[in-house]
Amino acid sequence: MTDNGERDVPGKGLLDGLAVTFKTMTRRSTTQQYPDVEPDLPPRSRGVIALSEENCTVCMLCARECPDWCIYIDSHKEEVVVPGAARPRQRNVLDKFDIDFALCMYCGICIEVCPFDALHWTPEFEYAETDVLSLLHDKDRLGEWMRTVPPPPAHDVLGEPSKEEATAARKAAGPGAATAAKTARPAAVRAAPPPTAAQPVPPRPSPPADPEDTAGSSPGEPAR
Ligand code: SF4
Ligand code: SF4
Repeated sequence: MTDNGERDVPGKGLLDGLAVTFKTMTRRSTTQQYPDVEPDLPPRSRGVIALSEENCTVCMLCARECPDWCIYIDSHKEEVVVPGAARPRQRNVLDKFDIDFALCMYCGICIEVCPFDALHWTPEFEYAETDVLSLLHDKDRLGEWMRTVPPPPAHDVLGEPSKEEATAARKAAGPGAATAAKTARPAAVRAAPPPTAAQPVPPRPSPPADPEDTAGSSPGEPAR
């Protein structure tokens, strides 16, 4: 008896299995002949993490947020003399930026938290090693992968303007136009049709009473 209470037919399971086998045999094979044929990966695939060294300010956010503690950063400070400044400024210089891909779980948190767009996903995946210790990659190796980072997705024309766009619009509009620039919207949004008659129109506030009409009347007494 089956779970449904039906009687078993001898050999039915075998025939069902053979039916699946024959159906699969007649299907076109989809095997990709890697490495002779490169796989066609989506552009936003999480292959490996690339580092743009010049963007990194050694803020350490990525290393602190990494759940696997597999980012190792080292740096030193340098004095920079700025013409006209009262005293020299200091800046961080990156000495070491390693990611241990033997520990990394490809969660992407480091890329999300980086405030300076120094870390990026790339679809590059051919970095297998025969020794697990060789999966610790330094900043030079991470920097080489920057050339395989795909371009950023197209800007959403219906989205909010970025802070930089709003600032540029405010400067272009001149003084006194700060509010208009802050609320600037893309052309597609500005071209939206006006409210139709079906939409409720808010009531207009009633004008203030004429002071001469109410002069001399006490509170609660109707105006003459
Ligand atoms: S992807 Fe996740 S686990 Fe890998 S280095 Fe970044 S934060 Fe760490
Ligand atoms: S979060 Fe970005 S800028 Fe900060 S240390 Fe990491 S990679 Fe560099």
